[in-house]
Amino acid sequence: MSDIADRAIWRIEKDVHSAIAHVRKQPMLECDGRCHFCDEAIAHALLFCNVDCRDDYDKELAVLWRTGRRHSLRCIKYDLT
Ligand SMILES: [Zn+2]
Repeated sequence: MSDIADRAIWRIEKDVHSAIAHVRKQPMLECDGRCHFCDEAIAHALLFCNVDCRDDYDKELAVLWRTGRRHSLRCIKYDLT
């Protein structure tokens, strides 16, 4: 019985490590004083000017990921490749 439990624990740990490694590969947004969606000037600690911009950014980014274009939206919108 412990073999099954040991394998289950091993599998869970492997999945968690894989998920962490995947997340670490994702590009992180940095605060630069501009909204990452509409480019509005904002406080430096923020990434977006409001929740709508954040949600729209997430939606457009999800579309880019589904279509294989894995750049940040800002790079595409402002041609900063
Ligand atoms: Zn915005």
